[in-house]
Amino acid sequence: MADIFQTADWKTEKHVPVIECPETVVSGVFFDVHVSLGKEIGHPNTSEHHIRWIQLYFKPAKGKIAYQLGTFTFEAHGESAKGPDMGPVYTDHSVTTRINIREPGEIIASAFCNIHGFWESSKPITIEN
Ligand code: FE
Repeated sequence: MADIFQTADWKTEKHVPVIECPETVVSGVFFDVHVSLGKEIGHPNTSEHHIRWIQLYFKPAKGKIAYQLGTFTFEAHGESAKGPDMGPVYTDHSVTTRINIREPGEIIASAFCNIHGFWESSKPITIEN
């Protein structure tokens, strides 16, 4: 299968998920994970061009299996009976959730732009001794 996920540096490409969380955590203790897009270069959020969802996974350093943490969908992009981009409310393409881990590994985030497709990034995370 072709690799449909694109990657790049989030500082120069507005579609790359930016994962913000501690680099080292205590085993079994919950911590916040914040994921956003367009931190350096804003991504549009209009009826015609927007981010539909972000998904999060955790892949332990040992083994090949990734575990899904959540799917976060963004449903309001200015759609309205008055017409596109005339709506009264917009959802931002960012999310904060809480997880705990019991092994070191990496957090993987994927995102989907309705025009520019699938993007992903990852961040390593270690357990405090
Ligand atoms: Fe886009």
